[in-house]
Amino acid sequence: SLDPSTLKSFSNAAAGHDGVLADESGEMVIKPCVQAEIDFYQTTQAEHPEFAELMPTFMGTLSLGAPASVPDAQVAQIAGDAATEQELAEKRLHGAKIATETAIVLENLTSGFKKANVLDLKLGSRLYADGTSEEKAARLDKVASETTSGSLNFRIAGMVVWNGQDFDTYDKFYGRKFSAENVNNGFETYFAPLFTPGVEAEKAAELLETILAEITKARHILERTESRMYSASVLIVYEGDGETLGSLMRGQEDKKTPRVDERAPTTRELKESEAEEEEEEEEGPPPTFKVKMIDFAHAKWAPGEGKDENVIKGLKNIEKQMDALIAKLG
Ligand code: ADP
Ligand code: MN
Repeated sequence: SLDPSTLKSFSNAAAGHDGVLADESGEMVIKPCVQAEIDFYQTTQAEHPEFAELMPTFMGTLSLGAPASVPDAQVAQIAGDAATEQELAEKRLHGAKIATETAIVLENLTSGFKKANVLDLKLGSRLYADGTSEEKAARLDKVASETTSGSLNFRIAGMVVWNGQDFDTYDKFYGRKFSAENVNNGFETYFAPLFTPGVEAEKAAELLETILAEITKARHILERTESRMYSASVLIVYEGDGETLGSLMRGQEDKKTPRVDERAPTTRELKESEAEEEEEEEEGPPPTFKVKMIDFAHAKWAPGEGKDENVIKGLKNIEKQMDALIAKLG
């Protein structure tokens, strides 16, 4: 169960509101959210299992204030303990945060990476749902008209890239500066580690192809269903530690390649490799990348309204950017 006093602020976010928390193990993120986002996760799990696979695993909800019922045994509610409340309030003090006491508990998509490179691509040229105040709608329309949100139906909302020593962070203003003609520079910056001599071009292309295929899969599902997702994102994560990435990319092959011209492994070595395999069977190997859709505060399934062109166009344009990158490798 989740012990509230062990929640810490989540440090791997590429964009968005402050106030995202992580559990002690780092396997879960706890994101304060509106009821509409909880509803969307629950409805999607129940009615759109195919799309649910493209979202972070939903582990339940958590009341950060008053007691509430908890759907998942893994997730305990935070008791109305004064010290704890205060601690949480302090942790969530910095910057704008969502005015809510309810949070969703999700799989942390950056968990398991040595250094997680993260890219948040915000989808749509229209960024608000029906019923949004005119003032907010006008503000979001203005940002869209000045950015690739307006021209390409997506923009870079933020990114984090490991440079070998530190994380370079690119905030929301970075992505707003690009035009349709030069937004490829943003993708090239995010994927720059794949274009270094340490990474085989063929392997880099394979990784980009796999990421592209996930985005295409999301688009195909949305083309067959009826939904409206305003201001949702595609979140791309890949291993930013060069050595780890290299060995993960070679990993599968090393296992397949038979040992030739080598002495037979010792009993100890056999035991060690068995233990390693068992570990991988239980937890799976560490991830090389993840691609998921996130941020469903303004999302709903919309029977009768047709497919969500606003999002589909953005996904197509992201796919074109990925294609152009792959072409550069080969
Ligand atoms: P908002 O933009 O409304 O604040 P998001 O759902 O977009 O909320 O989350 C903000 C940021 O937090 C994202 O840009 C992403 O970097 C990070 N984030 C959100 N959900 C997850 C998750 N499940 N795993 C890892 N990081 C996440
Ligand atoms: Mn967001």
